[in-house]
Amino acid sequence: MALSYEEARLQALHQLNLLDTPPSESFDRITRMASQIFGLPIAAVSLTDRDRQWFKSRVGVEHWSIPREKAPCGEVADTAGLVIIPDFSKHPCYADSLLGQNGIRFYAGAPLVTREGFSLGALCVLGTEPREVTEREIDALQDLAAMVMAQIELQHAFGRIDPLSGLPNRNQFLDDLADLAKDRPGYEQITVLVDFALPEQISSYARVMGPGRVDDVIRDAAQDLRLALGPQQTIYHVAATQFAFLAPADVERTTYIEHLTRDVGQARQNSAYGTVMTSAIGVAVFPAGTMAAQDILRALHSAVHAARSSSDHVSVYSSEVDEQYRRRYRLLQDFGAALASSDQLRLVYQPRIDLKSGACLGAEALLRWRHPVLGDVSPVEFIPIVEHSPHVQAMTAFVLDEALRQLVRWQHDGLSLSVNVSAANLDEPDFATSIVAAVGRHRVDTAWLELEVTESAVMRDAEHARRQLEALSDTGIRLAIDDFGTGYSSLGYLQTLPAKVVKIDQSFVRNLDDGEKERSLVRSMINLSHDLRYRVVAEGVETPQVADWLRQQGCDEAQGYLFSRPLEADQFETWRQSRSLAA
Ligand code: C2E
Ligand code: CA
Ligand code: CA
Repeated sequence: MALSYEEARLQALHQLNLLDTPPSESFDRITRMASQIFGLPIAAVSLTDRDRQWFKSRVGVEHWSIPREKAPCGEVADTAGLVIIPDFSKHPCYADSLLGQNGIRFYAGAPLVTREGFSLGALCVLGTEPREVTEREIDALQDLAAMVMAQIELQHAFGRIDPLSGLPNRNQFLDDLADLAKDRPGYEQITVLVDFALPEQISSYARVMGPGRVDDVIRDAAQDLRLALGPQQTIYHVAATQFAFLAPADVERTTYIEHLTRDVGQARQNSAYGTVMTSAIGVAVFPAGTMAAQDILRALHSAVHAARSSSDHVSVYSSEVDEQYRRRYRLLQDFGAALASSDQLRLVYQPRIDLKSGACLGAEALLRWRHPVLGDVSPVEFIPIVEHSPHVQAMTAFVLDEALRQLVRWQHDGLSLSVNVSAANLDEPDFATSIVAAVGRHRVDTAWLELEVTESAVMRDAEHARRQLEALSDTGIRLAIDDFGTGYSSLGYLQTLPAKVVKIDQSFVRNLDDGEKERSLVRSMINLSHDLRYRVVAEGVETPQVADWLRQQGCDEAQGYLFSRPLEADQFETWRQSRSLAA
């Protein structure tokens, strides 16, 4: 069914996301000009919503909106034409209108017309005396109305407005910061960045509720922040889940941050998404003009990042935290080059030992990175960073490829190889097929390859993970649950996965000397796993006592410094030879 003109007009208006946005100098400038040209005290950019006139810009008006009924701007919107009322008291319709009752006698309004021909409202001037208008004044008013429309279009065309929230975006934020540096050099400016969700919270929300609902959440969050900060506060939508703003002039820093935290926290509590998403507030304080706009934004990101791990979720920028952040950022940036280079990444191999016979059954492949400038970077540092980046796919592909190359040699000696798989790999739609393809390329028998997946990885999207793991298991690849015991997953669920092996996390194994409680925990993990027909591997075995005890409990395999640290491929060969000689 075709929309009525009014419905189509309202749709065009709402799509511009102008309603209820903060005042902006680019519109105010035009309104001031209109008021000056006419020599009248009141002028406004007035948008006609369903039931109200809302003022994007206003001179001499106190309210943000008035009812649409009997407002001449509404007539401008309806007719898309000029409306002049020389004297309200003589007008059949407006004499008893709200404006008329409040002493308004004169009105002139020019329509704000979109390219598609919809009138959004009016640029209008009002006076308290009856008045005539000249030809030239009408021309000027229409020109100014065209300027308002040009401004609206410009903001949309030049990427100054976020289309979802209708708020000024990052470009505008950077520009305004640069302006501030020119206008008030040295002024101590407090800038704030509010991030209301983690990327993984957004993506799991999208999975559960559908991507359209994510847009709603972002709009809600923008709205909540607006309510918390008040209508005068300009808020910038600088990234999907991030909003930035400048503190009002001359606030006291500590009190301001305190109040801000409270208000933002309250807004969240009352919101529908507050319980499923965690927000963080980053603050940076600097004298205007001392830092480039881009650097301020970077400082804010760094503060937000730090806020995520602080108890109150607020953090004020400090160069020390920034140093860490910079390093993380650099590692992330440089990992791409590492993947492309031939000499930065390599695998080392840590033996897995059969506790009954003492034989080496295989190894776990562990990734190592020697950065050309920073030197060796621990996987404990770089893997979590890469795992949250798009490089995670290429990283696992690299490890798999290297590991398979090694397996070609080792499978004849009866050695199997385990490769770690990241949670994000399971999200790749073609993960299982690409692994099978790699195994085929290297002509390796799938029985010698084991993939280690952490408990928490399979719990993230249990159904999807299970399908991927089943596809892999069907090809004969063995699956192991890594870091077992750390993920709070239900055994009932784990049991439905096609995994054959559990690897008890080293945090449990390393505490075995501590006492009976620790031992009974590991004992029940072993027994439970055996009941469910898993093969059990203990990680982090460092002493003969621990190895002996595990053997007594029936634990099948062990891995740890007692037997060997992770070794380079050639060292691994030497280690194995010397071991078989000793045996
Ligand atoms: P993980 O999968 O639990 O690997 C075992 C880690 O424990 C390895 O650390 C290993 O060197 C260490 N380890 C082995 N035996 C002992 C021991 O007796 N005592 C102690 N204290 N530690 C021991 P590494 O190589 O630093 O790797 C750390 C983590 O980084 C791995 O934990 C894994 O989560 C991740 N990682 C390493 N390589 C890869 C990879 O290729 N892909 C993925 N996705 N993750 C990897
Ligand atoms: Ca592992
Ligand atoms: Ca592990």
